Amino acid sequence: SMASPALLMRVVASAYSVAEKAATIVRNVMSAGDLGIVEKAGPNDLQTKADRLVQMSICASLARKFPKVTIIGEEELPNDDVTEDLIEGGHCEEILKKPCPAQYTGIKEEELVIWVDPLDGTKEYTEGLLDHVTVLIGIAYGGKAIAGVINQPYYNYEAGANAVLGRTIWGVLGMGAFGFQLTEAPAGKHIVVTTRSHSSALVNECITALNPDAVIRVGGAGNKIIQLIEGKASAYVFASPGCKKWDTCAPEAILHAVGGKITDIRGNPFQYNKEVKHMNSAGVLATLRNYDYYASRIPNTVKESLVP
Ligand code: AMP
Ligand code: MG
Ligand code: MG
Repeated sequence: SMASPALLMRVVASAYSVAEKAATIVRNVMSAGDLGIVEKAGPNDLQTKADRLVQMSICASLARKFPKVTIIGEEELPNDDVTEDLIEGGHCEEILKKPCPAQYTGIKEEELVIWVDPLDGTKEYTEGLLDHVTVLIGIAYGGKAIAGVINQPYYNYEAGANAVLGRTIWGVLGMGAFGFQLTEAPAGKHIVVTTRSHSSALVNECITALNPDAVIRVGGAGNKIIQLIEGKASAYVFASPGCKKWDTCAPEAILHAVGGKITDIRGNPFQYNKEVKHMNSAGVLATLRNYDYYASRIPNTVKESLVP
């Protein structure tokens, strides 16, 4: 008989089902029509009822199964009891059947940190740009993003009633990433993807310096990493603070699992241990291929303006 699956694979398999439940909540809140929008730092930093319910659902569901894992979610919520209808107890059997990469088989619960962005792209969600939205569950060990789940609740929403709505992408370092078709960006073209709702003079100065063939402005860190792995864009460039560890952890694990690279704008890797500062103060630079091409063209003036 098979040995019981490694903890990491059990966490990823559960996170997969928890993210699918989250996607249902995201869609249900939108169809019910009352978003319950709250401004956090300001009008470009919003929280909706979906952000709140999904965070409660993800954190409570994972904490119940893995009580010693550290779980850090984006939203500050009162620690009211979570209602039972928000709990997801299932897991993805297909993930559980896959062998855990050897270097991760001995991981213990207390060594894992899970970074949760219950709804990435909230501003776009409130504006009806629904396919920008993702649910992000990133899993870190030894300060590194090693596994992640990205659910896109409205994938295919403009493809018609016959298309399956929503998808779940997942990946583990040393294993690969699944749930999408890895696609190279057009050869020889420099297509930059960046923020649509958190631009600044520095963000634009940095993009101009790269002299791209095209610039795509869309919401969400999860969404932008999907653009990289599906060949829509060749680099994600964000020369600004604002992005946090829960925005980058799951996307980083998936991008790295398929051979891409993500760092801050100065080329420093992100750290995901539980004590780390949440803000990615020195911005984001990510590519599937040709990281060095973009990194070598970021102006020193831009790098010097962003302090890690
Ligand atoms: P964006 O590319 O603008 O969608 O940003 C990616 C992630 O970082 C989202 O979760 C944003 O909410 C967050 N973010 C980026 N810039 C800011 C900012 N200036 N204030 C608050 N959140 C930000
Ligand atoms: Mg986010
Ligand atoms: Mg969020």
